[in-house]
Amino acid sequence: MYNKSKELYAKAVKVMPGGVNSPARAFKSVGDHPLFIDHAKGSRLYDVDGNSYIDYSLSFGPLILGHADDKVVKSVQDAAVKGTSFGAPTELETTMAELVMERVPSIEMVRMVSSGTEATLAALRLARGYTGKNKILKFEGCYHGHSDSLLIKAGSGVATLGLPDSPGVPEGTAKNTITVPYNDERSLTEAFDKFGDDIAAVIMEPVAGNMGVVPPVEGYLQFVRDITEKNDSLLIFDEVMTGFRVGYNSAQGHFGITPDLTCLGKVIGGGLPVGAYGGKKEIMERIAPAGDIYQAGTLSGNPLAMSAGLATLSQLTPDSYEYFGKLADQLEAGLKEVFASHDTPITINRAGSMIGFFLTEGPVTDFDSANSSDLELFRAMYQALLAEGVYLPPSQFEGMFLSTKHTEEDIQMTINAFDNALSKVTGK
Ligand code: PMP
Repeated sequence: MYNKSKELYAKAVKVMPGGVNSPARAFKSVGDHPLFIDHAKGSRLYDVDGNSYIDYSLSFGPLILGHADDKVVKSVQDAAVKGTSFGAPTELETTMAELVMERVPSIEMVRMVSSGTEATLAALRLARGYTGKNKILKFEGCYHGHSDSLLIKAGSGVATLGLPDSPGVPEGTAKNTITVPYNDERSLTEAFDKFGDDIAAVIMEPVAGNMGVVPPVEGYLQFVRDITEKNDSLLIFDEVMTGFRVGYNSAQGHFGITPDLTCLGKVIGGGLPVGAYGGKKEIMERIAPAGDIYQAGTLSGNPLAMSAGLATLSQLTPDSYEYFGKLADQLEAGLKEVFASHDTPITINRAGSMIGFFLTEGPVTDFDSANSSDLELFRAMYQALLAEGVYLPPSQFEGMFLSTKHTEEDIQMTINAFDNALSKVTGK
């Protein structure tokens, strides 16, 4: 069934670490090898062995209009004909900036980069430069890309300084990152009591999407907003995943909380490599060449990427998010019924077009509770679902994504696939 993928993987591991260019794709926790993709269209992914899948990974989030959307493809083609990169400004970049600012009003000025990682690392440098403080605070289970300051795990106990999460991250860097549990007001208060004078910024996913989907508990975002303000620390919303996914005006619009800086990526690139960071004008004007804090990029604001982003954002309307809500309702109800009929626990967390399920009674509100999911069962389910024609992001700790091309019929087929997969793996 996967012979060609297996063959290609055997070749790939000889020339690329783990056979991939990014670890999350390697299927480490769900199988022996990843599937190699031939092409994709709409909600469907086609592998090199001729199997097709309803895709809920959508390249880990960007493809909110589904794969190879006609207008996105056309705009990239048109842009390519005119030249792929100039190292000089284009009007497209201003149009894109204006559109982003219109949808996310806390962004009064924006800088385009080429990945989410770049966006968050630049936002941290800016926060440190602007406040003159050294430390940053992040939440356990949140992922903000792979820069040194952000590849940090919690020290022992709450409100301690961080430890490197990967060889190669200097201890000195780790010491400037504080990590506390998500959705926990007490730990955050303790951290500010202890280090408040020197915390340049709190960076957070306003809905966590990298421990599965974990929304903020009622009042939590406001609490974080208040405590950062009180301590003259900046609040950075990392909306690389949630931006234009949780709502028409992103997660901050949905929850009505205004951060100082916002990081974007994924959806704003429409499937091409794009990231962005922006926020209060007074802060953004510190970025070179307007100001003294350095950040640059040869391909930043690339015309192909801007065209794909514009074609994507301009096709999203408030109705798109109502549609996502309808599909998500259907999927949640269907999955709950199926799991109940197999006497298997499931917890479903949702935010707009992001849906996370955990194989546990729940509730799941932080990294510890996310880890209570049955990972063995997830692995078995994952393979059984592939055989049923459903492609999930290949980890328990990634949410499912919807696109405007997913249909009610796709959702019903997915519910049936879960039913069959559960019968197979639980024998119930
Ligand atoms: N922040 C968040 C919230 C993310 O989900 C990701 C990627 N999954 C990143 C940052 C890093 O983005 P990139 O992979 O484009 O560097």
